Amino acid sequence: MSIKNLLELNSSELTEFFQSFDVVLCDCDGVLWLEHVPILGVKETLSTLKACGKRVYFVSNNCSGGTKHVLNGLHKIDENLQEHDVVIPTQAIISFLKEINFDKKLFVLGTNAMKKNLIDAGFALTNTEDIDFMELMSIYKHGNKHDEDIGACILDFDYELSYKKLLEFMIYLNDEEVLFIVGATDKALPLSSKKFLIGPWYFENMLQERTNRTSMRFGKPSSNLHKFISKKYNIENPSRVLFIGDSLDQDIQFGINCGYQTLLVLTGVTKLQDLERLSSDEMPGYYINGFADLDLLIKNNLIVTNGAT
Ligand SMILES: [Mg+2]
Repeated sequence: MSIKNLLELNSSELTEFFQSFDVVLCDCDGVLWLEHVPILGVKETLSTLKACGKRVYFVSNNCSGGTKHVLNGLHKIDENLQEHDVVIPTQAIISFLKEINFDKKLFVLGTNAMKKNLIDAGFALTNTEDIDFMELMSIYKHGNKHDEDIGACILDFDYELSYKKLLEFMIYLNDEEVLFIVGATDKALPLSSKKFLIGPWYFENMLQERTNRTSMRFGKPSSNLHKFISKKYNIENPSRVLFIGDSLDQDIQFGINCGYQTLLVLTGVTKLQDLERLSSDEMPGYYINGFADLDLLIKNNLIVTNGAT
């Protein structure tokens, strides 16, 4: 499949494009804002899409500040947005654990905000502070566990990650009954346009290799997140969904995996030349310079979709 530049479509092709989806799923960082500052024109674009009858929701892999953190960023753009409009992997993990009636304890490598989200949802977490490393090594050597009630280990972004925590995670995963759950699987977390933090992907791979276990993923581009979103937003026909994102590995791959249409924006981590390394089945359907350009396209071409322009 070849990628199309939305700016090069003629008026009837644009009308056809805008009429081909009812739901917009949108990544946040790199699409709506950069370094926590909203990109010029995104507010108008959101309201134009809604005026066209589109349902718009926001899908972020960022669990580090909880749902509220993403919502706070969105409120700089539209203060009427609700928690219901936001999806982060923690929600998909909670939904899954509830679905399987999980009643054991969790060991979590994540931020305090993520832990709070899990506790607020009714789950118990183990306390890892009360054991020293030598004691932990002895437990590992003798094939025991520090906490026998652990039923699942969750890995996400943890800026207080330590060797001791990784060892403890590994000890629990030696029991095949203990679930291995991962939120975000990003390789790099953008701090600015040129600076990136190490993403959870590296730790996930290390733990997979050391334990011979395969993780269950709940962030973009996983099928578990797709299931959660489909149920949450009652999406019956994925081909009528447009996923807008700036990352090829998370956003565009997620859209392709889910059977959504995909639109790459160039305001974030991906540059046009990055597309050269992609095979045809990894290619986004469309690209555009920025999310805000959609507003101009709709208004300049007097696009009429499900509603009025
Ligand atoms: Mg992004």
